[in-house]
Amino acid sequence: MYNAKAYAAASPTSGLAYTKIARRNPTDHDVQIEILFCGICHSDLHQARNEWSFSPTIYPCVPGHEIVGRITKVGPAVTTFKPGDLAAVGCLVDSDGVCPQCRAHMEQYCPNATYTYNAPDKHLDGVTYGGYSESIVVNERFVLRVPGNLDLAGAAPLLCAGITTYSPLRHWGVTKGKKVGVVGLGGLGHMGVKLAHAFGAHVVVFTTSKGKTEDALRLGADEVVISRNTEEMKKHAGSFDFILDTVSAEHDINALVQCLRRDGNLTLVGAPDKPFSLYGIGLIFGRRSISGSLIGGIAETQEMLDFCGKHNITADVEVIPIQKLNEAYERMLKSDVKYRFSIDMASLKAE
Ligand code: NAP
Ligand code: ZN
Repeated sequence: MYNAKAYAAASPTSGLAYTKIARRNPTDHDVQIEILFCGICHSDLHQARNEWSFSPTIYPCVPGHEIVGRITKVGPAVTTFKPGDLAAVGCLVDSDGVCPQCRAHMEQYCPNATYTYNAPDKHLDGVTYGGYSESIVVNERFVLRVPGNLDLAGAAPLLCAGITTYSPLRHWGVTKGKKVGVVGLGGLGHMGVKLAHAFGAHVVVFTTSKGKTEDALRLGADEVVISRNTEEMKKHAGSFDFILDTVSAEHDINALVQCLRRDGNLTLVGAPDKPFSLYGIGLIFGRRSISGSLIGGIAETQEMLDFCGKHNITADVEVIPIQKLNEAYERMLKSDVKYRFSIDMASLKAE
């Protein structure tokens, strides 16, 4: 074991502060990574503040699952990575490898998956600690490769915001000629826009922030709808093949369902804890459906990274020192980030 510098929440209301955490020394199949950048996902905030009833937070909690860095050490059995390589880690660090989900390369749905933070640690006592840290040790099966042409600060958010939007867009067959809605222009939403645009779809952003219209168009949207404007919403009734909802807070989904065409699908990736109030008749007329989607498997995450490398897609980031974490959380809650915070982990050296 060794000690690593990190930022942790001590309670739901404490905010995040400097601490030291235990990391294991690399075992046979492990890769040790010096973390260079870590994105700030709204899930980090939900977890740090214990907002999810399905996943009570165990403190201290070190969030962070949009990790890019450089490999510093590998275990003796590791053959596919070597010290000096760029590497990335997302929301998963382990799974059982034998269940139907794992065999189908969808480790995210494995009942025994180990999440990057707040999950029982199979190697050390306690829970896993995420990327708000100077280093992390991960089994090579869960380590991704970052295309060399991508800016690293902007590549970090691909590991969650990128794959969480890529996977459902692919699953629901978003291609040229499809009309696709992206609800909420935040970290996930802006990646959804970039990816759906790259897949050739006609992209419409649903936003509550009037000030984001120009950005939405620049990011790849063809149209922008202010979702709280009933008249604007009505103009799009019955017209969407697919809508991706990335909203992090309680909101009305019935108006969005009305925008779907026959057999259209609304997929939820945004994860507010409160149940939705759904008008079932809205689904019945039009045989519409609502689904959920959780990040993506490891192979699909690599496919997404390679796609982004080929098309030079990264997140639009505001790079911050780790000392600004608490301020960044407050700004994220106010939708005041264009469009993802990425922590420059070199700032942790000052602690
Ligand atoms: P984010 O950057 O804060 O973006 C959320 C966006 O939702 C905001 O920018 C805002 O967009 C919109 N919004 C916020 N409050 C709203 C409200 N009351 N009504 C309507 N719209 C509102 O968050 P994120 O990091 O993209 O994460 C979004 C959600 O996805 C979180 O709940 C997170 O936990 C979840 N998530 C799920 C997965 C998964 O695997 N399913 C993975 C990662 C994250 P506008 O300003 O444009 O309205
Ligand atoms: Zn995330």
